Amino acid sequence: VSRLNPEILAELISVLGQDHVARGASVLELHSHDESTHPPVLPDAVVFPGSTADVSAVAELANRHGIALTAFGAGTSLEGHTVPVHGGIVIDFARMNRVLQVHATDFQVTVQPGVLRLDLEKQLSGFGLFFPPDPGANASIGGMIANNAAGIRTVKYGATRDHVLALEVVLADGRIINTGSRSVKQSAGYDLTHLIVGSEGTLGLVTEATLLVYPVPEHFSTAIVSFPDVPHAAEAVYGIMGHGLDPAAVELVHQDHIAWMNEDEGADLPVAPSLMIEFTGPNEKAVGEAMTSALEICDQAGSTGSDRGLGREARNAMWRMRHSIRERVHRRFPGHRIISVDVAVPISRFPDLIAFSQDRAAARGLDYRVIGHAGDGNMHMNLNFAPDDAVARRNAETLNGELIDKALEMGGTSTGEHGIGIGKRAYLVAEHGAEAVAVMRGIKKTLDPNNILNPGKVLPDE
Ligand SMILES: Cc1cc2nc3c(=O)[nH]c(=O)nc-3n(C[C@H](O)[C@H](O)[C@H](O)COP(=O)(O)OP(=O)(O)OC[C@H]3O[C@@H](n4cnc5c(N)ncnc54)[C@H](O)[C@@H]3O)c2cc1C
Repeated sequence: VSRLNPEILAELISVLGQDHVARGASVLELHSHDESTHPPVLPDAVVFPGSTADVSAVAELANRHGIALTAFGAGTSLEGHTVPVHGGIVIDFARMNRVLQVHATDFQVTVQPGVLRLDLEKQLSGFGLFFPPDPGANASIGGMIANNAAGIRTVKYGATRDHVLALEVVLADGRIINTGSRSVKQSAGYDLTHLIVGSEGTLGLVTEATLLVYPVPEHFSTAIVSFPDVPHAAEAVYGIMGHGLDPAAVELVHQDHIAWMNEDEGADLPVAPSLMIEFTGPNEKAVGEAMTSALEICDQAGSTGSDRGLGREARNAMWRMRHSIRERVHRRFPGHRIISVDVAVPISRFPDLIAFSQDRAAARGLDYRVIGHAGDGNMHMNLNFAPDDAVARRNAETLNGELIDKALEMGGTSTGEHGIGIGKRAYLVAEHGAEAVAVMRGIKKTLDPNNILNPGKVLPDE
C-alpha cells in the first residue's frame, strides 16, 4: 500500500469536495484508534461520503493508487478494527445516517450504514418496532453489520447476522453490488450477504442495509438474582437454558459491578455475583410464569435472593445499569486500559469455563471481573491495568490467550461477538485450521486483489 501524496489528495478533494476531506490533527487523531488497547496509527486523510456514488468513487481512486481504505462507523470496536495500520484514507459514514424506509407491515427497515443504534431505536419505536441486536455502545449499523455485533438480547433473537436480509455493497474497485432480497426466506445462489456480515470492512463497504425488526414486546418480567459465587450463577444459567424457558436475556454480573451500581444509582442490591434475567412476551401471565420457573431453577442452584420487577420501567432501569459497566470501570480506574476478554463456548461448558477463568486470573494476580452474555455461553472479563504497568499488561494479555486456548479446546470460539480485528488474528488458524484460512485468503484476493480494504485485519500475516 502506498501513502497519500499531494496529487492523489487533490484528486480526492475533486471527487468529494473540500468540505468532506479532512486532514486536521484532531480529526486524524479521532480516527486513529478504537476503544481497545491497540496502539493508534494516524490516517493520511479522513473522508465523509454523502452517497453510495461518493463511496464508489473513493474506493475506485484508492484501489487505482493502492491506498489503504479503512471504514469507520462509531469507532467503538474492541480489537483494533478501525486502526488504519497502513495509514491511507479512513472513510467515515457519519453523513450517511438516514433511515431510508420503514417497511412496517413487513417488519423490515432499510437504512444507511451510518445510522446509530439508538437513533434507529427511536425512529422504529414510533412504529411499535425494534431492532434487537444491542451492543453496549451506541454503535453504527454499518459497524454492527461489519462486526456481526451481538449483545444482551442475542440469546432470544440472535446476532446482527440473523437480522440482515439485503445489502448494497461497494467493492474494493468501486463496483456496486446488491445482495439478498426483502424475502425472509432466501435460497438463491451463494449467500454474499452473510459473507459481508462479519467481514470487518475487509471485503466491501456497506452502503445500505435492509434489516429484520420485531414488534416491541408488550410485557416484561425482570429479576436480579444473587448467588454465593460465580460458578453457582453459571450453573443456574445452564439450568434456565436447559429448561427451554426462552429468556430474552440472561446476563452474569460480577459483585463489584453490583456494588458500584448501588453506589452510583442507589440500587440497594445484595453485593454478590448476580444474574440479570428478562422474559418478554405478549401476555403478563406467560412472562410471569416463565420468571417463576427461572427463579426456582436459580433456587436449586443455590441463589441467595432475588429482586423481581415487572414492566417496561423496571426493565429499562436494569439494562441502563448493565450497559454502564465499562464506563464504571473507566470512572473507578481513571486512565486505565481495558482488555475485554470475549470467548464463547457451548452452553454445557460455560460453568467450567468460568471456573477455569477465575482460577487463572487469580493465579496471575490480576484485577478481573467476570461478566457475560451467559445465556449464549459468551464470557467477558474486563482486565484493567495502568497504562505504564507493563507487567500487568503482559499478564492480562497472557491470560486472554490462555482463555482463548481453553475456549477452543472446549469447542468454542476466540470471539463471541467483538470480532478478530488486529487482536485475534493470531488465533484464526487454531480456530478454523490452515485450509479454511487459505480459503478465506482466496476470497479476500478475489474481492480485494490489491489489499486496500482495511489491510492488516482479520487474516494473519502470510
Ligand atoms: C462500552 C462498549 C460495550 C460494547 N458491548 C458490546 C456488546 O455487548 N456486543 C458486541 O457485539 N459488541 C460490543 N461492543 C463493541 C462494538 O460496539 C461493536 O463491535 C460494534 O459493532 C462496533 O460498531 P461501530 O459503529 O463502532 O463500528 P467501528 O468500530 O467504527 O467499525 C467496526 C468495523 O466495521 C467496519 N465498518 C464500519 N462501517 C462499515 C461499513 N459501512 N461497511 C463496511 N465496514 C464497515 C470498520 O472498518 C471496522 O472494521 C462494545 C463496545 C463498547 C465500547
